[in-house]
Amino acid sequence: MTTVCTTCGLPKDLCVCDQIARESQRITVMIERKKFGKAYTTVTGINEHEVDMGELAKKLKNKLACGGTGKDGVIALQGDHLRSVKDALVELGFSADTIDVQQDRRQGPRPYGRR
Ligand SMILES: [Zn+2]
Repeated sequence: MTTVCTTCGLPKDLCVCDQIARESQRITVMIERKKFGKAYTTVTGINEHEVDMGELAKKLKNKLACGGTGKDGVIALQGDHLRSVKDALVELGFSADTIDVQQDRRQGPRPYGRR
């Protein structure tokens, strides 16, 4: 039995609505610093009506091996995963073009000549 997508009318196996929904989102990734120097990587801008936040948070936590929460449209991951979270989201089917990674302002630019 073939089920048909109610949005585009195509059979489910041909339908790309889910993919389009993911690609039309604008996702922001940034570091939030809390008291005592604890850092959280937050992911915002995901449409929680189209994406199961709890499920996505779980997948990201598995990939990045950290704790975290996914609720109220915000995924907060423990630790600094600024560099890896974008790759993890792309692996999960989000388009790299829609993911904005905000640099950590507290740290500022790296001074020249230091590695
Ligand atoms: Zn569809």
